[in-house]
Amino acid sequence: MKGGIEFPVYKTKREGLTATYDLSDPAQRKLYFEAKLGPEIKVIKKFLKKKAFVAFLIGKKNTGKGTYSKLFMEVVGNEHVGHLSVGDLVRDVHKMIADERGRAELANFLKDNYRGFNTVDEIFDLIEGRSQEKLMSSELILALIKYEIARRPRQALFIDGFPRALDQVNYTLFLKDILGYKDHPDFLVFIDVPESVIDERIKYRVVCPICKTPRNTRLLATKDVGYDEKSRAFYLMCDNPTCHKARMLPKEGDELGIEPIRARLEADDQVFKQLLNLKGIPKVYLRNTVPVDKASSYVDNYEITPGYEYELEKETGFVKTIEKPWIVKDDNGVPSYSLLPPAVVAGLIARVARLLADIK
Ligand SMILES: [Zn+2]
Repeated sequence: MKGGIEFPVYKTKREGLTATYDLSDPAQRKLYFEAKLGPEIKVIKKFLKKKAFVAFLIGKKNTGKGTYSKLFMEVVGNEHVGHLSVGDLVRDVHKMIADERGRAELANFLKDNYRGFNTVDEIFDLIEGRSQEKLMSSELILALIKYEIARRPRQALFIDGFPRALDQVNYTLFLKDILGYKDHPDFLVFIDVPESVIDERIKYRVVCPICKTPRNTRLLATKDVGYDEKSRAFYLMCDNPTCHKARMLPKEGDELGIEPIRARLEADDQVFKQLLNLKGIPKVYLRNTVPVDKASSYVDNYEITPGYEYELEKETGFVKTIEKPWIVKDDNGVPSYSLLPPAVVAGLIARVARLLADIK
């Protein structure tokens, strides 16, 4: 239950389909989506030849919004769909105005397109300030989104990071008109990921110091694993051959999991619940978990996120990796499995196809 709404589990299991797919491999993923959602993908592709859409991704920080929209783009083709992250946009603009020409270009755009309470100089000060996004008014964020869209070809959009605060919720209702997408449909995509999942994703994440590839000691292991005698802890070694088994490291503070971002998660949750009450705009509900006792009738085994544990062979020093089901409690305390991103995106594709099929 989320704000009084039960998020349905999307059934990806298909009668008679017994093949298994390695969902980490792009070629296998293509076969997987074709096998499970061939007709739905056709509906979406056909729609995108004539029209676009504006989809708002609504979910807490670290729910994988970027990953889901990128997988959707991979399936239907990214020439017709784009992902617009407001966080990335603010960072890009920050970089852009470091140089004379970029600064002049943005100043010109704002003169014509920004309506609000700040002068262009004040806006540049805000963007160059440290915690920019927080201090930026909704009017400014809107102008920046407009700026970004003006530079892209006309395409369907997944907007990630807007609305971010309660005072942006009302803009959401009219954003497609403001952006010049009046004749295109818009809808909200709610992503429900339990806090326990977000917590472990943060707590166990590690990164290669050389190539920066991210992994997760608990959820996304590498081929080789080592054991540190001093700290009595296992560590992953980067798979990238040019990194020569570099030891992957955690980022300071990540061991605290969601604690440092708790206030942010609560603010995100408030926006989430507020948006659930909006009328007149279609909604798509996605859920990252499936209750353990329902799993076998809803999903295939290979669609479930595995968990990893390690064992040290005393005599040889070799570390053995053991794959075990990863069971988490969802926000209602129900023991659940977390689905791999493609299985969540399968639900997104099915629901978006149904929604677009009704639009002339
Ligand atoms: Zn590496």
